[in-house]
Amino acid sequence: RERDAWEARFEEGRTSDGHRVEVAANLGNTAHTQDAVERGAEGVGLLRTEFIFMAHAQAPDLDTQIAEYRTAAENLDGRPLVARTLDVGGDKPLPYWPVPQEDNPFLGLRGIRLALTKPDILETQLRALLIAGRGCPLRIMLPMVKDVAEFRQARAIFDRLLEQLPEAERATDVQLGVMIEVPSCALLAPSLAAEVDFFSIGTNDLTQYTLAIDRGHSELSAQADGLHPAVLRLIQMAVDAAHAQGKWVGVCGELASDAAAVPVLVGLGVDELSVASRQVPLVKARLRDFDMSEAQRQAALALSQATSEAVREALEAL
Ligand code: PEP
Ligand code: MG
Repeated sequence: RERDAWEARFEEGRTSDGHRVEVAANLGNTAHTQDAVERGAEGVGLLRTEFIFMAHAQAPDLDTQIAEYRTAAENLDGRPLVARTLDVGGDKPLPYWPVPQEDNPFLGLRGIRLALTKPDILETQLRALLIAGRGCPLRIMLPMVKDVAEFRQARAIFDRLLEQLPEAERATDVQLGVMIEVPSCALLAPSLAAEVDFFSIGTNDLTQYTLAIDRGHSELSAQADGLHPAVLRLIQMAVDAAHAQGKWVGVCGELASDAAAVPVLVGLGVDELSVASRQVPLVKARLRDFDMSEAQRQAALALSQATSEAVREALEAL
């Protein structure tokens, strides 16, 4: 099966009845883009740009960042690049950006909250992405957004840059979206969907914040299962709200490469799955296992359960 998956890795992601689901790669290093493409990735669905920042002793300047993002854009050769703006703070400190000691770093200054305290760093990053993304379908997403007010603050910076940069010098096929990883965003998805270009669901953090389980906890993290029906309901809310506004939805957390979860996510209407590069052929093969009506049946079955264990048992019994 693995060999068949590998041989069919360049086929487009589709269910057995032809419903299109893009399969992209999660990367933390732009030098790995070529490898992702060779494994069949249809784009980069999550570029974790904080790893680029962590690899430098000081904040990388505009030109350094342009060179980094340009590597990804060039190797993608027309495929989309979904780049996440710097997601540090809390558990991911940067030596040159000290954050005060916090009692609850996962609930503290991190992601977009931190970025908005130093808008010059965010602005340089957005400028670098726009310049490097010339000729590339560029999708920029903001991490840890909790509501539309935070999105609007970042959007104001982004819109100003778009005006400043001549069109010939920057990406023109560009979208600005948010990660759905804080439950408030899923609960209020209609207000966000009206203003963003897309959603990408970060199931790792969404699960952590929904179930109140530290995703790295040595004893509890096994219970932080993204197939929990409470998490699935939030995903359903996000997808329904986005589609009602004609926006697309990806999933870029671990759940996207979980064989049991793939049909459930597709049944909920997810348009793109972004997974570790080595999983790309396997996720594409998994998509060919079922048709859309089967996916919808599995999604409904999962949503009707009360616990993640019950969801997994019910799906396995099919
Ligand atoms: C997530 O939270 O699901 C996600 C994709 O982001 P990260 O794992 O980098 O926090
Ligand atoms: Mg996250």
